[in-house]
Amino acid sequence: MMLLEIENLAVEVGGKRILNDINLSIAEGETHVLLGPNGAGKSTLFLTILGFPQYDVVKGSIKFKGQDITGLTTAERVQLGIGVSFQSPPSIRGVSVRDLLKIESHQDMDEDLNPRMQELAKQLKFSDEFLDRDVNFGFSGGEVKRSEILQLLAQMPDFTMFDEPDSGVDIENVELLASEIGTLLDKDKPPRSRKRSGLLITHLGYILNFVSADKAHVLMNGVISCSGNPTEILEDIRKNGFNGCVECAQCL
Ligand code: ADP
Ligand code: MG
Ligand code: MG
Repeated sequence: MMLLEIENLAVEVGGKRILNDINLSIAEGETHVLLGPNGAGKSTLFLTILGFPQYDVVKGSIKFKGQDITGLTTAERVQLGIGVSFQSPPSIRGVSVRDLLKIESHQDMDEDLNPRMQELAKQLKFSDEFLDRDVNFGFSGGEVKRSEILQLLAQMPDFTMFDEPDSGVDIENVELLASEIGTLLDKDKPPRSRKRSGLLITHLGYILNFVSADKAHVLMNGVISCSGNPTEILEDIRKNGFNGCVECAQCL
């Protein structure tokens, strides 16, 4: 079954065309990766799928689980099973990490944080005191990313998008994050029994050293210039840069 189906999508921000002719389908259990240089439109696609109102879909459609979600609000999309890890999430004064985790795992606010979340917090190297800090306020780069992943583990969405989970994070944190990203994408199950899907957005593909992907897409100047085998596409980008993608063997 196709989980996400994007057809002939064109997107404008503030009247300026950013994305054109985007076609992208992700089946149940699949992980795709979106590569591309800075300014290509990767985050624009991410925020459009999430349904941020500034991103005007001027052509095409986005379907999720067979339903056209192009006109739905972000909250409605999250309700349907879409989860996200932002590249630079906002800080939230007055809301602790613990509070947010309770909300995301549908707990009462006056209960103790459930044992599963306490265990996951430990795995992600968060102390009990850390959980009482305001979300993202004064967090280091690695702490921000680990807190994003912890919140996703509370939700366990059917489809998760990660915007540059490997940017501004040291190697130790990337390995830790990758293992939990694997959990969110059912990597601990054999390929055929995977149900959860995801889209990993990455500038240079560093995260692919730690998380496997089924298919890669290259976004350049707002269009998908190439789609295919992640290993071959990465090799091509490393040899020829992103420009080489336009006429690489994958798409000829
Ligand atoms: P990437 O994530 O691949 O680096 P972005 O999606 O952030 O690329 O940006 C793609 C293009 O869209 C850039 O030229 C950027 O300046 C433009 N853009 C993105 N968001 C906005 C916005 N809110 N207003 C105006 N232009 C924007
Ligand atoms: Mg971006
Ligand atoms: Mg090509």
